[in-house]
Amino acid sequence: MAHHFTADNKVKSTTNNMALTLRIHEIYQSIQGESTLAGTPCTFIRLAGCPLRCRDCDTPQALATDSGKTYTIEAILKTIAPLTHQSILVTGGEPLAQKNSIALLEALGSITQHLQLETSGAYAIDHIPPHVQIILDIKTPESGESQKNRWHNLEILKATDEIKCVIYNRADYQWCKAIIGQYKLDQRHTVLLSPAWNALDPKDLVTWILEDELKVRLQIQQHKYIWDEGTTGV
Ligand code: SF4
Repeated sequence: MAHHFTADNKVKSTTNNMALTLRIHEIYQSIQGESTLAGTPCTFIRLAGCPLRCRDCDTPQALATDSGKTYTIEAILKTIAPLTHQSILVTGGEPLAQKNSIALLEALGSITQHLQLETSGAYAIDHIPPHVQIILDIKTPESGESQKNRWHNLEILKATDEIKCVIYNRADYQWCKAIIGQYKLDQRHTVLLSPAWNALDPKDLVTWILEDELKVRLQIQQHKYIWDEGTTGV
């Protein structure tokens, strides 16, 4: 049967979406610590739950699907109303593990010029609305979760999307360099290479990047320098 989508349908669908719920670990404003927006004001919407178990996960408090509390999309919009709209980051946990994350991204689209989604890359991204800038985390072998990478995601990213890779050691770096070359990621995207906290000296990563003349950007997780390690809600 053919379906005709009218303006009325759209209004109705948007209104219905306001009642959809998500499990949210926390909502707060701070300084964006990562991506090319690093250092700029940002409102963080951290969704609860992640099926991955990366080595040294930096948000272990958000891994449980029942952490935080349940919000409707309408309640999320009310909560962020007084916070900065300069940029909004939907993160986790793994945001795409909750099916209503797509409706949330649609609802946030008219609120900010810079709507970012940070995802592990373990879920399909083909249904992410085009106004969302995706920050796609490639999981390295040393993270323990490289088998979860969905390689097709790398082929369908938009030019404005960014790739992030946390590097633990020389072998991780070589692996990441091979992936960048194979998918020509540095020709199409900003690629952010981050030294794993307390595991790889940033100086070593800088040396390797310069030796290989990689077209990537070193990413230092700024929030870990500003606040004590393990501080949450910042
Ligand atoms: S994907 Fe992110 S939230 Fe999930 S275990 Fe890995 S680092 Fe933690």
